[in-house]
Amino acid sequence: MANADFDLFVIGAGSAGVRAARFAADRGARVALAESGPLGGTCVNAGCIPKRLLSYAAELGDDFALCRAYGWGLDSPSFDWATLIANKDAEIRRLNEVYAGLLKRSGVSVVHGRAKLVDAHRIAVAGKTYSARSILIATGGKPQGATFAGSEFAITSNEAFHLPELPKRIVIVGAGYIAVEFASIFAGLGREVTLLVRGERILKNFDLDIGPFLARELVKRGITIRFKTSLREITRGPAEFSCETLDGERLTTDLVMLATGRVPNTADLGLESAGIDLRPDGSIAIDATYRTGVPSIFAVGDVIGRVQLTPVALAEAMIAVEHILGRSTQRAINYDEIATAVFSHPNVGTVGLTEELARGRGHKISIFRSEFTSLRNTLPHAPERTLMKLVVDAQSDRVLGAHMVGANAGDIIQGIAVALRCKVRKADFDETIGIHPTLAEEFVTMREAVKETDSPGAADLAHEAPTQMP
Ligand SMILES: Cc1cc2nc3c(=O)[nH]c(=O)nc-3n(C[C@H](O)[C@H](O)[C@H](O)COP(=O)(O)OP(=O)(O)OC[C@H]3O[C@@H](n4cnc5c(N)ncnc54)[C@H](O)[C@@H]3O)c2cc1C
Repeated sequence: MANADFDLFVIGAGSAGVRAARFAADRGARVALAESGPLGGTCVNAGCIPKRLLSYAAELGDDFALCRAYGWGLDSPSFDWATLIANKDAEIRRLNEVYAGLLKRSGVSVVHGRAKLVDAHRIAVAGKTYSARSILIATGGKPQGATFAGSEFAITSNEAFHLPELPKRIVIVGAGYIAVEFASIFAGLGREVTLLVRGERILKNFDLDIGPFLARELVKRGITIRFKTSLREITRGPAEFSCETLDGERLTTDLVMLATGRVPNTADLGLESAGIDLRPDGSIAIDATYRTGVPSIFAVGDVIGRVQLTPVALAEAMIAVEHILGRSTQRAINYDEIATAVFSHPNVGTVGLTEELARGRGHKISIFRSEFTSLRNTLPHAPERTLMKLVVDAQSDRVLGAHMVGANAGDIIQGIAVALRCKVRKADFDETIGIHPTLAEEFVTMREAVKETDSPGAADLAHEAPTQMP
């Protein structure tokens, strides 16, 4: 398209949109970026960053509990939610400004307002229409709504970050990572938390040992988990909420939070006028180059409904821009090898294939698994256990997956993710000298496969060491 206002118009200044805009502008493209909310999108404003800050606050509570055994005397520590939220908000504002500065330095034109596609090359924002040779949709996702009676009284993660106070009793509906992270945060900050799980497992997309193991740890921390149920109705009373579960129980609580999944942000985006197709789950259909059915329009990040994580959105953004700018690129994301963490207490870290997936793909596998009490928890006699598991292809010896529940699991798994990308074998783990005494060394000292049969679930035959041994 000759004489377009911009080479690239990006819709959405979240993780994907900001990265795409800067990446393209730094390579000489004339770029505009439209955003209807604060810069930085979900991750910065209502996701990873504020969530991790609240999670650090809750973890500090654990440290207070452990510290007496290490000789520290502490008068009863107190916690102030308003201080935490005010400090968190100040940090988010700082990050918003950092993003504005980065975009300015790259020469990206930021347009504030809600953008809508007019056609394959034109976008309307705040009463003005812009033209562009290419358009990138990076509008992210939002919490899935609910339709049961009284669901309007429930909050989602969006509101959880701005509660004026943190009430005593909290019911969380959901079984995914956002549900267990907030359950851990609220329980860690001393609240009574009930988690309602529709199925039989939390974190059901993770390795089959992770959910049950984490559930036991959450229960040890005082969280009540009810499986195979959800909410039928919420009724508001003068000072509290009365909830009826699907199995007819009544729960009285001060706050209900729904964490039942997220849906792509595609409403009122003008997709029909541009001729863009959606998948049945509402996400935007794209090809291997992140191009939609309309040649000039691309889409990346949560709105394409693949792996909904910030580092994935960033990687997709850069690959899409290379295609948009017509540069030949061999870069592609291996969606099987994406490492991720859940900042529950304890943390979960995972990379590669789960035991179920490996079996499903026809691998004959060996499972290496260890469950133990970390050295740090021995003096205080803390009940927390750590789980580590390797899924190994028995024929090639390649490590297909690594999974962990325990302190700093995300940091530990990040290193293992590099090894998996380099096609590491179990023999390489065995030949690696451990760092002693650390949690991570357990990954290189698991010698005996606990199970080599074809039935899933290594948990029952697991090697259970009482404590971490030299
Ligand atoms: C509670 C929570 C915790 C999370 N924790 C983690 C974590 O620990 N690690 C991790 O990797 N990921 C985490 N995520 C996921 C992560 O935040 C997302 O994967 C990531 O933000 C996706 O980036 P995105 O650019 O696709 O979308 P977003 O970041 O959602 O950005 C989309 C932007 O588009 C804007 N927008 C939408 N429609 C329009 C329009 N029509 N016009 C203009 N602007 C528009 C929105 O306002 C938004 O700013 C978390 C998410 C949540 C909700």
